[in-house]
Amino acid sequence: MSRPAETGAARSTPERDGGGRIDLHAHTDVSDGTLSPEALARAAHEAGLVALAVTDHDHVGGVEAARREGARLGLEVVTGIELSAEEPGAREVHVLGYLLDERDPALLTRLASLRETRERRAELMVERLQALGVEVTLDDVQTAAGGAEKARAGSRSVGRPHVARALMARGVVASVQEAFDRYLAEGRPAYVPKEKLSGAEAIQLIHGAGGVAVLAHPATLPEEVREPLVRRLAALGLDGVEVVHSKQGPEERARLAALAVELDLVPTGGSDFHGSVKPDVMLGSGRDGNVSVGVDTLDALKRRKAERSA
Ligand code: AMP
Ligand code: FE
Ligand code: FE
Ligand code: ZN
Repeated sequence: MSRPAETGAARSTPERDGGGRIDLHAHTDVSDGTLSPEALARAAHEAGLVALAVTDHDHVGGVEAARREGARLGLEVVTGIELSAEEPGAREVHVLGYLLDERDPALLTRLASLRETRERRAELMVERLQALGVEVTLDDVQTAAGGAEKARAGSRSVGRPHVARALMARGVVASVQEAFDRYLAEGRPAYVPKEKLSGAEAIQLIHGAGGVAVLAHPATLPEEVREPLVRRLAALGLDGVEVVHSKQGPEERARLAALAVELDLVPTGGSDFHGSVKPDVMLGSGRDGNVSVGVDTLDALKRRKAERSA
């Protein structure tokens, strides 16, 4: 097969044929990442990736701008989302959605309501912190999350990482991690739970918008529920499981890969890049190069989507 010349927009094609690399898990400043969608697309291109999924928490608003920038660079941008669900024994079950219709009305309505409860929760966290004698205001959090105008426009998804950054800006803590460890992690004094979907609802919401659903970073789930939960979600129609992730080591990956084969789940991977707030995690390559995902993984998700709609 002849290959197009390495010019302009055709540039990604030979890399694709040769098995180019991709990243299926990355956040922009629409949620708790630090790069704008356009800057994320540029960073992906500069990292030599041929495709990137934008997977903001409870928001698809960054996808279009990233896609436009990607199109200019010859980078494929995949519509993605990361939803938070709750299941027995697991308070934070993250479900990634891919290849969905970012204009699906039912999806957008549900996401808007999840984000509204996030805004209220940010206020509650500030109140808790103030009650603890910590000098921080809602304004600080708004600033950390891109400004109150973005909140009014519904164009961002506010979360604990923004509260953490506000605490850093105030000099209360030296790092985002310290903010979580002292105040914001579950069980800490300023922790406020957020509204969550059930696993079934998360999967249905994604399928309803024409997408495929993938369980994110299972290693962050309590050990004893991990495997039973993957099985339960697989029975509910889960399409894939994130085998490769910055936080997952070789043994965990091997266990998950075997489970994926057994349950007919697409094994996926991504860095979970958040920009400068998680400086040890690099786009496309994770922590110390522990993430490498080929474009064949995206092809497998596309096949799964086609099977689903057939
Ligand atoms: P939220 O959705 O507002 O509850 O924030 C969840 C996000 O906070 C996750 O996606 C991570 O980016 C970050 N996060 C959660 N737990 C921790 C932790 N213990 N340490 C550092 N970051 C965390
Ligand atoms: Fe996050
Ligand atoms: Fe997550
Ligand atoms: Zn994530």
